[in-house]
Amino acid sequence: MDKRQRALVTGGSRGIGRAICVMLAKNGYDVIINYRNNENAAVETKKEVEQYGVKGELLKFDVSDFKLTFKTIEEDIEKNGNIDVLILNAGMRKDVLFPLMSEEEWNNVVDVNYKSFFYTVRPVIKGMFHQRFGRIVVISSTAGLTGMPGQVNYSSSKFGVIGAAKSLAIEVARRNVNVNIVAPGFVDTEMTEGDLKDRKDEIVKQIPSRRIGTVEDIANVVEFLISEKSSYITGQVIAVNGGVFT
Ligand code: NAP
Repeated sequence: MDKRQRALVTGGSRGIGRAICVMLAKNGYDVIINYRNNENAAVETKKEVEQYGVKGELLKFDVSDFKLTFKTIEEDIEKNGNIDVLILNAGMRKDVLFPLMSEEEWNNVVDVNYKSFFYTVRPVIKGMFHQRFGRIVVISSTAGLTGMPGQVNYSSSKFGVIGAAKSLAIEVARRNVNVNIVAPGFVDTEMTEGDLKDRKDEIVKQIPSRRIGTVEDIANVVEFLISEKSSYITGQVIAVNGGVFT
């Protein structure tokens, strides 16, 4: 029997990350579920993944901690083999108008959403390069395509990962490693819980499709981007936002 391919999803414990983990399991991948704090949610994702007869592995690390992230991923690769698919999904927001933003609010968001690109991709890319196969998908945001008030930190980080992914895509394309970006619009997860409670009607009115996105809307596009059907697509951003003009 062929060895199953391995996929790592950062922030796989909840929300969009969990939907991506389940999609990967349905497609026959062994899934490495990264999380930072929420062990119960990560265990729940693992259970869902294992229903599809593949291996679910929990890997706890904070993606904004360079040494920990690098070492944890390197050790996992040494023990279990190369990672074939990497989904950079872990993210956070800390919205505040710029004149009131603290250094901590700036640094936290940029570290988790942007600097983590280096910390997670760097230990994985060598194996992909040598085996001449890899698929990387970065979850950016509509805020990475256009400005958003109160999100100077978040928007900067989400623009930043697009630049990183596009440049890397060019470097590694000849080795059959594709790097693409998905930019979700408004999706119903814990990240947007407060907005949905307070401003749902107002938000829906601004979306041409007149609905909030689901986690499956995003996982479906990731599924395409890791499949053979998209093998000639690299360095591209796909907005999944119900038609919001960006
Ligand atoms: P969510 O429900 O808040 O889940 C966030 C996930 O990221 C959790 O699994 C969390 O782990 C993990 N995480 C956060 N900080 C981490 C860190 N430092 N190290 C490791 N893991 C960390 O968020 P979501 O809505 O699913 O968002 C997923 C991605 O989509 C993010 O990059 C977000 O920016 C992007 N996005 C979301 C929306 C939206 O409307 N929801 C729109 C555009 C883009 P724990 O469970 O351990 O806390």
